[in-house]
Amino acid sequence: MEDPSLKWPANQQVLVILAHPDDPEFFCGATLARWARNGHQIDYVLITCGDKGINDHVPHSEGDELCKLRFVEQRNAADVIGVSGLEFLDVEDGMVAPTIALRREIVRKIRQHKPDVIVTCDPQYLFTPWGINHPDHRAAGQVTIDAIFPAGGNKLFFPELLEQGLEPHSPKEVWVSLTGSPNLVLDVSETFEIKMEALRQHASQIGDYGNFRQRMQDRMPIDPQTGKRKFEERFHVINWR
Ligand SMILES: [Zn+2]
Repeated sequence: MEDPSLKWPANQQVLVILAHPDDPEFFCGATLARWARNGHQIDYVLITCGDKGINDHVPHSEGDELCKLRFVEQRNAADVIGVSGLEFLDVEDGMVAPTIALRREIVRKIRQHKPDVIVTCDPQYLFTPWGINHPDHRAAGQVTIDAIFPAGGNKLFFPELLEQGLEPHSPKEVWVSLTGSPNLVLDVSETFEIKMEALRQHASQIGDYGNFRQRMQDRMPIDPQTGKRKFEERFHVINWR
């Protein structure tokens, strides 16, 4: 597939719906950075504040404290990418499930934002090359895709939202990131450094930046022609345009 975003009209509204702070930057930060620089508006809705993202770098942080810290880190990372709005839903980290109640809240966000494009992640991606995909990632992808179709665009779903003035809305494209079955592989060399700079803002999660950078580079495939690493982001794009 050719990159559909090359043919987008100006000023597209992009809504990124994922589970945790740092997911947008890890999964597709270089692509988001390119879109922002091309004048498109990007907003994030993150389902949790990442209150269980504890590791050796923040040994004493409790959930609430970590939540506040990760909000600041995420806002800084979003600024590096060029993102406008940043919202968190109130789901506990590690406990995301594709419930009907959460589907309603995602439909609410879709109808409020009326995005041209929604970015989420692949609910079917269980085993990654580096281990097991986080259950929150899979659940976030599932609940978002279920909210997009059919509920988001059908007024008979969640009539209480219509009563609140939230009209049905369907995006023109859905970009599913963190997928094992991509139909679009983008060369993101041009904005890869912006992605890395955004990821550097998530200091509570990445530890030593030099080691982290090396790990990120090691994950990138080697181009058989040049022998160099290829900086890529992969998507499964669903297009109704
Ligand atoms: Zn995550």
